[in-house]
Amino acid sequence: IVGADDKASHAAIPLPAELYRPQRENSHGIEFGERKALDTLTSAIAAERKAPPSVTPSTTEQANVAVAAARRGFRAWNATPATKRAAILDKTAGLLEQRRAHFLALLQSEGGKTLDDALSEVREAIDFCRYYAALGQKLFGEGETMPGPTGESNVLELHGRGAFVAISPWNFPLAIFLGQVTAALMAGNAVIAKPAEQTPRIAAEVVALLHQAGVPPSALHLVQGDGAVGAALVAHPAIAGVVFTGSTEVARSINRTLAAKDGPIVPLIAETGGINAMIVDATALPEQVADDVVTSAFRSAGQRCSALRLLFVQDDVADRMIEMIAGAARELKIGDPSEPSTHIGPVIDAEAKQRLDAHIARMKQEARVHLAGEAPSGNFVAPHIFELSAAGQLKEEVFGPILHVVRYRADKLGEVLTAIEATGFGLTLGIHSRIDDTIEHVIDRLQVGNIYVNRNMIGAVVGVQPFGGSGLSGTGPKAGGPHYLARFATEQTITINT
Ligand code: NAD
Repeated sequence: IVGADDKASHAAIPLPAELYRPQRENSHGIEFGERKALDTLTSAIAAERKAPPSVTPSTTEQANVAVAAARRGFRAWNATPATKRAAILDKTAGLLEQRRAHFLALLQSEGGKTLDDALSEVREAIDFCRYYAALGQKLFGEGETMPGPTGESNVLELHGRGAFVAISPWNFPLAIFLGQVTAALMAGNAVIAKPAEQTPRIAAEVVALLHQAGVPPSALHLVQGDGAVGAALVAHPAIAGVVFTGSTEVARSINRTLAAKDGPIVPLIAETGGINAMIVDATALPEQVADDVVTSAFRSAGQRCSALRLLFVQDDVADRMIEMIAGAARELKIGDPSEPSTHIGPVIDAEAKQRLDAHIARMKQEARVHLAGEAPSGNFVAPHIFELSAAGQLKEEVFGPILHVVRYRADKLGEVLTAIEATGFGLTLGIHSRIDDTIEHVIDRLQVGNIYVNRNMIGAVVGVQPFGGSGLSGTGPKAGGPHYLARFATEQTITINT
């Protein structure tokens, strides 16, 4: 795949017959209806669970070859009508639907995803394909006629920029990887995709699927490897853009590399992390708060960029709320992600577990412990709840099932908002309150990308809750939103004296 031109033909991948589930079901829980459907699905997944082939990381030389080949493939792909590019994305969605059990099995074995999480992710990936296909046909089809004096025609057109680098994280190895790649392709770019080193196999299979759907090999290249390979791609003089999802630290380093390069100015689309907060006042409904906090902080073992990290609870109700949240968290089942009743699977690798264990050990010294569960052996981390005396004690994004709680007095809501602003992040925010003035005041004051009122704060749906933040959380535009594709494009105005 690396550096391919358009000669290779891709053998059809056999498609297992499996359960069909329509899109647009809610992504917050398994809604199977019948036990029979669940049994059919789990047997289909089990049949797909076999050791996938190992993946060899690419060398820097291969990364350079891929950029050169993408440059060669760009013109033909950019000249392909938008309707055809969209049809290929729609076909990719269809193939994903057909091979759902296969990708569910991969998400569980390579990504450690629970069935619930894996189902949401496959659904999100399919939604990205269909949403960008529909949006892209409008944006990249006919140019937009602009006003002008008699005798002059003015048309604004959007085109691909060239060889676009897409670098993605391990925590949504299917949906984010495919979302980035399909957006860049729909806009007419040739793409060099560099998935996270922890999840190379899912990426390899997704790229095979896109090629099978009709993306020419010259327009889509897969480069495997760690951050060093990503850094080499970003430093390449011939790239035309970078879309990156991952940590703020790496986004900064990419930004620095791009800024230091000679030649054309290369745009960066960066979607990064957050120290996401939720504010719960005394008017909130305790049962709903407990449910939403547990979902927001602990689902996916807290390995979501949107996950709740800092919970501010009004002091009058804090004891009761914390007790209910801890009670609900104790009910969560931790263990084998392929077991449908599991709520929390493993964290991504031993390094992540070590980092989280070190944070837990520090918090046990510095904070009040409300919950410190036991996890099975392996890369598992049980939910923890720590109460801080001040929000500033949490200095960085902690990417796991660890919730930090801070009490506030009703007349000190302003201090809570200042503390949230002081994190510098602006990705997600939750508010649980029945007071409209409070809700409006918080929304007006804080610059946060996705705000959720009286519900949980994860699981943004493509085309419904466009997703992405500001400040340390990223540059925008929002993935799964109407302005995303245009940022992958360059604009051209053609004025003709008729
Ligand atoms: P990471 O930043 O460590 O790695 C992300 C990707 O960047 C990987 O493919 C990695 O190989 C590559 N990379 C690492 N160093 C690089 C370099 N110097 N140059 C180029 N590429 C490099 O992040 P991660 O641990 O994979 O993912 C977790 C992070 O991602 C969290 O911070 C999370 O909040 C964030 N995230 C954000 C969103 C969002 O939409 N805002 C979504 C998911 C995850």
